[in-house]
Amino acid sequence: MSVNYDKYEAVIGLEVHAQLLTQSKLFCGDSAAFVNEPNTHISPITMAHPGTLPKLNDKAIEYAIKLGLACNCEIEKINYFARKNYFYPDLPKGYQVSQHTTPICKGGYVTIKTENGEKKVQLNRIHMEEDAGKSIHDQDEHYTYVDLNRAGVPLCEIVTEPDLSSGDEAYAYLTELRRLVRWIEVCDGNMEEGSMRCDANVSIRLKGETRLGTKVEVKNLNSIRNVKRAIDHEIKRMIEEVENGGTIIQQTRSFDANNGTTFALRTKEEANDYRYFADPDLTPFHISDEWLKQIQSTIPELYESKVKRYTTELQLTEYDAKVIADERETADYFDALVQQTKNYKAAANWMIGPVKSYLNENNTSITELSLTPSSLAEIIALIDKGKINFSVASSKLFPALIKQPDVTASALATQLNLVQTSDSNEVASWVEEVLNKMPDKVAEYRKGKKGLIGLFVGEVKKLSKGKADPKLTNDLLLEKLNA
Ligand code: ADP
Ligand code: MG
Repeated sequence: MSVNYDKYEAVIGLEVHAQLLTQSKLFCGDSAAFVNEPNTHISPITMAHPGTLPKLNDKAIEYAIKLGLACNCEIEKINYFARKNYFYPDLPKGYQVSQHTTPICKGGYVTIKTENGEKKVQLNRIHMEEDAGKSIHDQDEHYTYVDLNRAGVPLCEIVTEPDLSSGDEAYAYLTELRRLVRWIEVCDGNMEEGSMRCDANVSIRLKGETRLGTKVEVKNLNSIRNVKRAIDHEIKRMIEEVENGGTIIQQTRSFDANNGTTFALRTKEEANDYRYFADPDLTPFHISDEWLKQIQSTIPELYESKVKRYTTELQLTEYDAKVIADERETADYFDALVQQTKNYKAAANWMIGPVKSYLNENNTSITELSLTPSSLAEIIALIDKGKINFSVASSKLFPALIKQPDVTASALATQLNLVQTSDSNEVASWVEEVLNKMPDKVAEYRKGKKGLIGLFVGEVKKLSKGKADPKLTNDLLLEKLNA
């Protein structure tokens, strides 16, 4: 039987848990850092001993608000924490502290690029909660071990509306979200290490239908690529199920990265009853306008805005703008560079060319680069003034300056004898030498093979080790050849 996939459209909503980069946990001073040695960051509060009380970590709230503001959310001024009750061995208190009816951030969006242009992926909410511990099943044949280091680490759960329509859009959304959390330094965004985790909710419906279909939730997605693979697989599976006369049942499924398929974990017969109630140990917390303003002021210019500014104000191509803005540190370096040169195109070419290659080849990052933006601006100025040509500048002066960052570019160029000469006697002697070496070519040129001028220029360049001013070389060559 042939399946008509085109009759259907997919509807996807993503839930992302992002671990906040605080030093300590959400409700106690235990370190929130990841360590391999299990159960080393576990005070009596983390272990939920009787009589212990939680104390709220302001930094986690600040980060959640920062993320909300960067996603254009509305920030809730009066917040409560609620207990979400369930039993699990890695949940020491028997409940997880979360936010139920008052998520700290509401609405908002993340902008992505799709094949049909820009799309604002709508968020439902961002709420705060504490992480659970980790059950370890693969170390012993008979026992499951529990590591509580992660228990109580602050998380933000970022929940989209059912607003995505393909695996590709989910991929783009997660890429932008990861860039954003890294950019504003609230989460390290490493999906492989679990500091950013994603569940994908997927349903299908006939095109034109406005009601939502029954959803399936896919878990255990440990990379952005696997989220896309799982969604693509799930859409296909659901369409085939329906086309074959079946119905979709609400399920939680798991993705198997080895073969790209999903399998059922559990079928939701009825909604879980978490018996939520406001946590009596935690008083409501208020967010003042001054605090909001102060947090707003810590948000740097974001990626999207940088790309727009580079393409409009600096007239860069979209491609160049995106490559430069891709990482915040590179963009910051570039911003400092274009404060000191007006040749934006050359600045972009240096970033994408020599700077990027140098960093790649030396496996280092721009924050480690000893060459300052002002030195690089000076190199660009030397080229623009005809003092040095690009290839000599990038192959000789640039690496030399990296080794001697305290010397100025022009001093070093002189010291290394790299400065182009516009001394016509000197250039004329190189021209002479080249023409004398190639009488056949000269004859050919004079018979009409004018394209040979490029060869002569190249030879002078080689002979002079790049020092002959190209314009002067050209003029003197023409003078001699046409004499
Ligand atoms: P639950 O109570 O099952 O967790 P929520 O209403 O909280 O469901 O939604 C969880 C996520 O699932 C959200 O990202 C939401 O956009 C998405 N979602 C809800 N219904 C659907 C649907 N029918 N198809 C696809 N995604 C959906
Ligand atoms: Mg949910």
